[in-house]
Amino acid sequence: MVRFAREPNFLAMRRSSLVSRNANSTPSEPSHFEALRREMVALQIRDRGIRSERVLAAMASVPRHEFVPASQVSAAYSDNALLIGEGQTISQPYVVAAMTDALSLNGSERVLEIGGGSGYHSAVLSLLAREVTAMEFVPQLADAARSRLAHLGFSNVHVEQADGSLGWPSGAPFDAILVAAAAPEIPPPLIDQLAEGGRLVIPVGSAEEQNLLLLMKSNGGVTRKIMFTCRFVPLRGRHGWQTEPQGTTQ
Ligand code: SAH
Repeated sequence: MVRFAREPNFLAMRRSSLVSRNANSTPSEPSHFEALRREMVALQIRDRGIRSERVLAAMASVPRHEFVPASQVSAAYSDNALLIGEGQTISQPYVVAAMTDALSLNGSERVLEIGGGSGYHSAVLSLLAREVTAMEFVPQLADAARSRLAHLGFSNVHVEQADGSLGWPSGAPFDAILVAAAAPEIPPPLIDQLAEGGRLVIPVGSAEEQNLLLLMKSNGGVTRKIMFTCRFVPLRGRHGWQTEPQGTTQ
């Protein structure tokens, strides 16, 4: 997979490949989706303070409408979370961008994502990092994300169907870890599996509301910063919610 840092022509190449694919696979004009993406980036992301050109370019490149069921395609670039089946959702574009921005990726990193869902956020991360391991609990979602990402050419993402609250020990340490589901507490294995100098973004709190936390590991210690309040679907598994709280995502 080519990344922005090393291939300035990537965006143009990728867009032209999307144009031909979309022309064959969807009735809507590809330029329509591209225009919606540009507007999404300008109004929902740049105007709200995300300034990294690499993050903005990744958000402008990934075809969000390809990651949602047909019933959600017309809403794909709206300022909302979207239903992706199995009671799960893709986060609102701004939340995806803000979480990604907080990881300060430069293209060299190995990233662990917990809660791969549709694969949309994995695709965004894959354009900004060397390699992404995306863990998804629900087998149907993991299978669908794996084939969708392969079909769209995001070849540096590996989807693993397993309990991500335990992390992915065989791939550790990771330079960045992103959790896209609400945790009652920070799962200890994720801190253990974070490299020195690494960053972890995770929503932590009650089922109704969480703080999106950015943790940084340095000199053996961990510092934390609250980014903003949010509401994600629950993290399940060993270090998640043992009983099912009701949650929605942002
Ligand atoms: N980032 C995703 C959306 C995440 S929604 C996207 O871009 O589409 C949260 C996801 O976390 C759901 O798909 C849910 O099944 C998954 N999840 C919840 N608990 C998990 C766990 N312990 N391990 C892995 N995935 C988990």
